[in-house]
Amino acid sequence: MARILVVEDEASLRSTIAYNLRREGHEVVLAEDGEQALALWARSPADVVLLDLMLPRLDGLEVCRRLRQQSGVPIVMLTARTDEIDRVVGLEVGADDYVTKPFSMRELLARVKAILRRRALLQEELGRQSATESAPILRGPLRIEPARRRVFRGDREIALKPKEFDLLLHLARHPGQVFSPEQLIEVVWGYDALGETGTVRVHIRSLREKLEDDPSNPTLIETVRGVGYRMAD
Ligand code: CA
Repeated sequence: MARILVVEDEASLRSTIAYNLRREGHEVVLAEDGEQALALWARSPADVVLLDLMLPRLDGLEVCRRLRQQSGVPIVMLTARTDEIDRVVGLEVGADDYVTKPFSMRELLARVKAILRRRALLQEELGRQSATESAPILRGPLRIEPARRRVFRGDREIALKPKEFDLLLHLARHPGQVFSPEQLIEVVWGYDALGETGTVRVHIRSLREKLEDDPSNPTLIETVRGVGYRMAD
């Protein structure tokens, strides 16, 4: 099941929650104040955090904010203060969900179950996406294998430098779409263009020399005058 961090200063509520979660098969870690919660988190993160709003030492809002800075872990706030709910689940604090006190254990368990189900679906989805992303791409005579970072032209493997490969892969994933040198710098090199577009020109030239039949008359990576480059559909 899941590892769940429960942060609640009220001892009887804390142990009732722990008892019920453990009965469902979850591993439960308990904290009684905000500082302890962060210390426990630092030692070993959890899959879900149940976090009381009013806590000694460091309140739930601050704990939530700090967890958010380092993690996308689902956080459910436990709160008696309905006037705080908008803030709690808003961008500023960033909890995923809340239950208002007093709540039944059944309600809390249902919330946790829903979160874990969503997480499972998301992971499945991510798995599917990365399978699609690593599938070979065929463009004209080229076969690009993202997972192995290899490129073939017919049976012959073409040796590319890392950035040449990234540039080719980006163009090949969006056939027919024109990218300006600035856009390519941002996507492939990951920084703002600022006069660095010569780098793109150099890499495009080198790619053409390696991939095209006639590099001065390219048919795979086309130049769109005054705009940029595109991979032929
Ligand atoms: Ca409290």
